[in-house]
Amino acid sequence: MGKAKKKFINALKIPRYKKFRDDADRALEQILINRQIEISREAALLFDAWTRSILMDISIAQHRINLVSVYEKLTRENEDSAKKLASIFTRTKRVAFVLSLSAESEAIAQVKGTAQAKPSQRLFDVSNTPRLAPLASFESRIKYLLDKLARKVIDGVQLGIIQGETLSEIKRRIEKILPERKPAPKVPRVLTKLAEATGMSGRGDLSTRQFKKDLSTNFIDDGTWDDMVDAYKKAYVPEFRSDPRRMYTSEASDEKIAAWELENELTEDFIGAVRDGQVESFEQNGVDDSVWIAIVDSHTDDCCLWRDGLLSSEIEKELQGNHSDDESDAIVAPAHIKCRCRAAPSLEVNNNEELPSNAMEFSEWLEN
Ligand SMILES: [Zn+2]
Repeated sequence: MGKAKKKFINALKIPRYKKFRDDADRALEQILINRQIEISREAALLFDAWTRSILMDISIAQHRINLVSVYEKLTRENEDSAKKLASIFTRTKRVAFVLSLSAESEAIAQVKGTAQAKPSQRLFDVSNTPRLAPLASFESRIKYLLDKLARKVIDGVQLGIIQGETLSEIKRRIEKILPERKPAPKVPRVLTKLAEATGMSGRGDLSTRQFKKDLSTNFIDDGTWDDMVDAYKKAYVPEFRSDPRRMYTSEASDEKIAAWELENELTEDFIGAVRDGQVESFEQNGVDDSVWIAIVDSHTDDCCLWRDGLLSSEIEKELQGNHSDDESDAIVAPAHIKCRCRAAPSLEVNNNEELPSNAMEFSEWLEN
């Protein structure tokens, strides 16, 4: 190696970049959990309605029950829920993309002095396209998942009826088929200052914040930014609690999420939107290559292990050669659900240059 002053380095090795990215990633994780809780609540309401409707019909019609018409009733209820859930999906992906794009640009700017984040067609595409069914709308995709689950429930009910089960036995049978809800995981918070400052009054002075102008372009409209901050804060200020003294104490301890197809798809879509936002930032800021950073331990998947430390350009070559049969075609992390890998931009830095002096902490940045 020569003594060239300019060189490319993995940005996660720059403490200031890493700190900002770590905080942003934790905030993103919290947003995902908050939205999973929202999805679970909405689904739980629907499942309660299903159960009531089925038990009512059985108690009226007994063994002459027409299960086809019961199923039709459930699918009609699914229509409304699918609309609501689809809007949560779209808002969530929008927030994930915008936060990921703008936080990545800000993190780059903190090293390079300047960076940009502009609106793009990709934001629209990402927010409106289900990853696992790109040709479907979110509404039709979610309706399909709900109808599928309703069919499973009806199957169970039919089995219960022919075996002469009582109403409460059939109720238990339905509960077993429905997704089990577990306590929501906790993520260390990065925005404590923000939450305490705004309190019950809601947005406070958040609506006046804007991007640091010398670092990045102010393109995000107030609505999206507020949605982003709200998505993050939600667990602090649940609307249904009226006693302000309880506000910050119980956090999300009584919140539950369920792991079934719908929630998994939200996670999948969310992770994809975060990655797309980061890639968008790389493109807008002339980052040609990124490094794949894996957490290497006994849980690391093979597909992440060989990628660890490689540039996206190197991974691309590997996928055409030695690893052409790899289960994933990702060249930028993460590769799959529960993948703990990250992508770090490969930045050209001048060793003799001072870092820009106007760096902000993540929470300050989001607040401003
Ligand atoms: Zn991974």
